Amino acid sequence: MKVSYKIYNLPFKHPFTISKGTKSHQPSLVVELEYFGLKGYGEAPAISYYNIPVEKMVADLEAKKMFVEKFSFSDPERYWHYLHHLFPQNSFLVCALDMAGWDLYGKMKRKQLHELWNLDLENTPPTDFTIGLDTIETMIKKLKEKPWPIYKIKVGTDNDMEMVAALRKETDAVFRVDANAGWTLEQALQKIPALKDLGVEFVEQPLAKDNWDGMKILYEQSALPLIADESCVTEADMLTCIKHFHGINIKLTKCSGITPAKRMIQKARELNMRVMIGCMNESSLGSAAIAQLAPLLDYVDMDGPLLLSEDIATGVSFNYGKIIYREGYGLGVEMKDF
Ligand code: MG
Repeated sequence: MKVSYKIYNLPFKHPFTISKGTKSHQPSLVVELEYFGLKGYGEAPAISYYNIPVEKMVADLEAKKMFVEKFSFSDPERYWHYLHHLFPQNSFLVCALDMAGWDLYGKMKRKQLHELWNLDLENTPPTDFTIGLDTIETMIKKLKEKPWPIYKIKVGTDNDMEMVAALRKETDAVFRVDANAGWTLEQALQKIPALKDLGVEFVEQPLAKDNWDGMKILYEQSALPLIADESCVTEADMLTCIKHFHGINIKLTKCSGITPAKRMIQKARELNMRVMIGCMNESSLGSAAIAQLAPLLDYVDMDGPLLLSEDIATGVSFNYGKIIYREGYGLGVEMKDF
């Protein structure tokens, strides 16, 4: 097996702001696995909050490239276990390599992954479109620019209620809110009933990621379902989320790829928890990986390609929230420039 990689720095259409800060570009690592003439691709965007910059992914890959290449690839799940032990501290790099392994495997089997897994695309929920934090006027402008059936609205400011009420005047679409750990328990208890009245479907990560005492109280009193994002990073966090959250937001990078994400979806079903997959502003490459899993989910948040102004691949596209799958094997992606 031969491993290559490329670093991208993809510009956002608008500066993207959440309660943790603003960014204008999304740095991302793309890896290519070449095996007997077939090529598989995987992507991992760097997120400063998780402290794994692209440079760290590259340094770790360079240090152990020989071991990644000498693996005798037969199936992606076995490959993930090998990678997980090779890079125990770098879930983002493992995600990129695992994704490339699945892409390669689908190409070996001449099937798209959702076909290999026997999933029915009829069950695929539509994706939301994210409105990042900004002045109310600009948020209204962004919403009007993109008519969509479901919006995810970033909150976590002093004027959250005013903001959501102003957006509600513009549309009847479904709203979800994501506080990115930006509220105190008192703020959450006060805001959630009013958000319900404004037609909000659920609240993502209301409190700080380790405020489990606060979440226990909120879980018992919340008028809306609560979805864990920052509080649920890996499979090990799922059990802690029971009776603190109603569901989890899986992200391929934080959990370390498609292989553990599949296990987490199955586990969430056993625990009777709702399941969402979110994105970290992946291009059409990483988004196509989310799309393969989408029929298994309750909620999908994969609007990366819609927020970025440059794309590195042709993978999925969207029609008013509906995910349109591209033909092809593996992830069903064609790289534009690698
Ligand atoms: Mg989130």
